[in-house]
Amino acid sequence: MDAQTTATAAYIAASALFIRSLGGLSNPETARAGNLQGMIGMGLAVGATALLLPPAALPVLAVVVVIGLAIGGTLAQRVAMTSMPQLVAILHSFVGLAAALVGFASQLGGHHPTGAEGVIHSVALYAGIFIGAVTFTGSVVAWGKLEGKIGSKPLTLPGRHGGNLLLVIVVAVLGVVYAMNPEAGLPILLIMSGIGGFLGWHMVMAIGGADMPVVVSMLNSYSGWAAAADGFLLQNDLLIVTGALVGSSGAILSYIMCKAMARSFVSVILGGFGAEEGAAPAKPADGQPVGEAVATDVATLVKELSEASSVIIVPGYGMAVAQAQHPVYALTKLLRARGVEVRFAIHPVAGRLPGHMNVLLAEANLPYDLVLEMDEINDDFPDTDVVLVIGANDIVNPGALDDPSSPIYGMPVLHAWEAARVVVFKRGKGAGYAGVENPLFVRPCTRMLYGDAKKSVDALLAGLSAT
Ligand code: NDP
Repeated sequence: MDAQTTATAAYIAASALFIRSLGGLSNPETARAGNLQGMIGMGLAVGATALLLPPAALPVLAVVVVIGLAIGGTLAQRVAMTSMPQLVAILHSFVGLAAALVGFASQLGGHHPTGAEGVIHSVALYAGIFIGAVTFTGSVVAWGKLEGKIGSKPLTLPGRHGGNLLLVIVVAVLGVVYAMNPEAGLPILLIMSGIGGFLGWHMVMAIGGADMPVVVSMLNSYSGWAAAADGFLLQNDLLIVTGALVGSSGAILSYIMCKAMARSFVSVILGGFGAEEGAAPAKPADGQPVGEAVATDVATLVKELSEASSVIIVPGYGMAVAQAQHPVYALTKLLRARGVEVRFAIHPVAGRLPGHMNVLLAEANLPYDLVLEMDEINDDFPDTDVVLVIGANDIVNPGALDDPSSPIYGMPVLHAWEAARVVVFKRGKGAGYAGVENPLFVRPCTRMLYGDAKKSVDALLAGLSAT
């Protein structure tokens, strides 16, 4: 078998592994295997590409692969679960930059086919650079906002939508000019990539920090399409397949997030939603009942849990912040050993990434059969003695169902308030992601256990162990 045939076979195998990997990642039980399949697929892809390179290029490839592995490995080891969205954002910026650079390299290489092939080549080159430039600056801004390096407030310049549209039209016109004479097109590409970079910066600057997870997923999609365009340019089928997989899965993920938050994708992209995290809650609408949240203490909760026969735990973003998943699992084991039925209710957008809670609970080795999706468990709250809401807020907000003035009205939520007793673990009166009041906190069945979730669960464990 010659090198080309071997590489083609390896590319087909890698494509299949990438598809299987995506399938595996959709379920916590198969996620590890899915990850491994993705890694093997990528190893095959790099190996097969190396086969096609002239021998003189191999040392360069080896050096960059080793540097890339070292940087990627170190970053992945060090990143906290709560910082995962920013890591993903900065990695997308690399994909965008790489896609744009591949386009420029191809332009500088000077090979411009003619006829129909020439048109495809020009379109792929132009689109790859443009989407790559948008993805690069957009992802850097998303990273900056998530990391707190750039203010999360949306930058809403007057006439910004019209301005963006005008720039897109300019890019399209320049594209036609480029396609007519690609050999002399370098200045056009430079101007267009400048405009693309500005558009990426401006569009993401206009989006509130709160919507960044959706934007990161959208940029993920863009980075995939930029890579697919490069696949056409380099006539590399694997890059086309991989780019299309990333592009479509990122788009689907953005759609799932928007649907689970009852937000339209367009309204996310147009920007300006959500207060800063921990901000004081927005004032409730006129006429809405306002009461006082009643605090509880560990001793009272120990007593309530000792008498309970069914418990549902609702984890949220605060559990990730507090890193309380390990003591939460210890608490689960203790209660189950005493004959209490303990289950977890997972909202599709709990935390800051889809699957955020599943990953945290899997990290603590919690058995998967205790973890139920919202639709599977929402009807069971009325038969539940105690609900422990650990660092969750918006996902248990009854206002989403009955307050049309709430920004999260229409978002499906967990009906925690239907249980006999709800205990909310949070540090103080800070709002959740959407920055709105949560009427659950003032419901008669609710008690607030103030403090860091990890410390509270540790204290609860100690109290229960002593009884
Ligand atoms: P929220 O962000 O609504 O609430 C988290 C709560 O945790 C806060 O009220 C905070 O209160 C509390 N908290 C923070 N740190 C701690 C700590 N150390 N100990 C105890 N409590 C703590 O989280 P939810 O998970 O309920 O909701 C997720 C939100 O994120 C939804 O609005 C969703 O739409 C949004 N979102 C989710 C995405 C996803 O894919 N998962 C994507 C985009 C957005 P306090 O400060 O008082 O402690």
